[in-house]
Amino acid sequence: MYRVAFAEGDGIGPEVVPVAVRCVREAAEGSVELFRVDVGWSAYRSRGSSLPRDSLDAISAADGLILGPLDVGSYPPGDPGSPSPSGRIRRALDLYANIRPIRSPPWSARQFDLVIVRENVEGMYADRNMHAGSGEFMPSPDVALAVRVVTRGECRRILRVGFELASSRRGGLALAHKANVLRMSDGMMVEEARSMAASYPGVRYSEALVDALAYELAVDPGRFDVIVAPNEWGDVLSNEAAGLAGSLGLAPSLNAGDSFAMAQAVHGSAPDIAGRGVANPIAMVLSAAMLLEWISSRRGDRRLLEASASIRAAVDGVLSDCDPGVLTPDLGGHGSTSSMESAICSRLARGR
Ligand code: NAD
Repeated sequence: MYRVAFAEGDGIGPEVVPVAVRCVREAAEGSVELFRVDVGWSAYRSRGSSLPRDSLDAISAADGLILGPLDVGSYPPGDPGSPSPSGRIRRALDLYANIRPIRSPPWSARQFDLVIVRENVEGMYADRNMHAGSGEFMPSPDVALAVRVVTRGECRRILRVGFELASSRRGGLALAHKANVLRMSDGMMVEEARSMAASYPGVRYSEALVDALAYELAVDPGRFDVIVAPNEWGDVLSNEAAGLAGSLGLAPSLNAGDSFAMAQAVHGSAPDIAGRGVANPIAMVLSAAMLLEWISSRRGDRRLLEASASIRAAVDGVLSDCDPGVLTPDLGGHGSTSSMESAICSRLARGR
């Protein structure tokens, strides 16, 4: 029995996370025990921190975490979990690889299926790139500085994930960088990528400036397989790719380390639609499926691989049906979170 923690998070989190939890419960019945931890606004209101110490301890002792989106922009300055509990969890558990697959839905005129591998523990995000203190500071009221961290070891770790993934897929790897101006930092990533490419002769390696790659992605997403990118470029490119697919509600993600992984959709807390019952749960459901597959690969347990595959097949089936009464408004339908949940779960039940 694997123990997986979950936290609903903020905004649309309490609407979409229960759908993901139900899918895991039904698909992996008898092999996964799910338990709730408190993270986000609910934790802050009841315990004075958006990431209480005991929540982090319980997460660390589990086999994985399903984490809802967090409205990090709204946390009060005095919050000990601020500014980003997800950033703290990524750092604490060394979740260095953010794997973000995205596929066009069946009705899309432009078909694509790609994965963005985003470096997740360095770069520019000031709350997580320092051992102590913050990477962003103000020497005077009118000057703000932000430090960007890039290390050779981390470049190698994230590139290894990208090359291995490309080898197991269609064999294409594109590196997004900005080494024309960030010569030492992104330059180091390019140097390591070129050297690693030599040991993966089966992978077609290419590289492009991130601005050019963003353009290419918009023009012809179908030509990409795996894209590896430093933290902030990967963050932006994955939202662009989600937009090309039609909705952030279709974009799952897994934050993975060597011994722990956290499922968390690419999207945020979507305050503009929170509480209306129209959030698309697919990104969260597919993130949870990625977590099951990851646990299965680490523990050599086929049951979770099968559970993950059955969740994906159920989601694919719902998208292929293309029933406007079921699909949420972001996908052009007039359904709801609950019509999507029913459709996915009834397919799951039929598949068993
Ligand atoms: P957002 O991703 O929450 O929303 C962007 C747009 O996409 C909105 O129009 C929203 O309605 C739509 N959208 C997002 N998810 C959807 C879904 N599942 N179904 C249908 N539509 C969906 O980005 P934002 O509004 O810029 O950020 C809101 C808050 O979330 C901010 O506090 C931000 O810091 C935080 N955030 C958190 C995470 C995370 O926890 N993983 C990621 C990104 C942003």
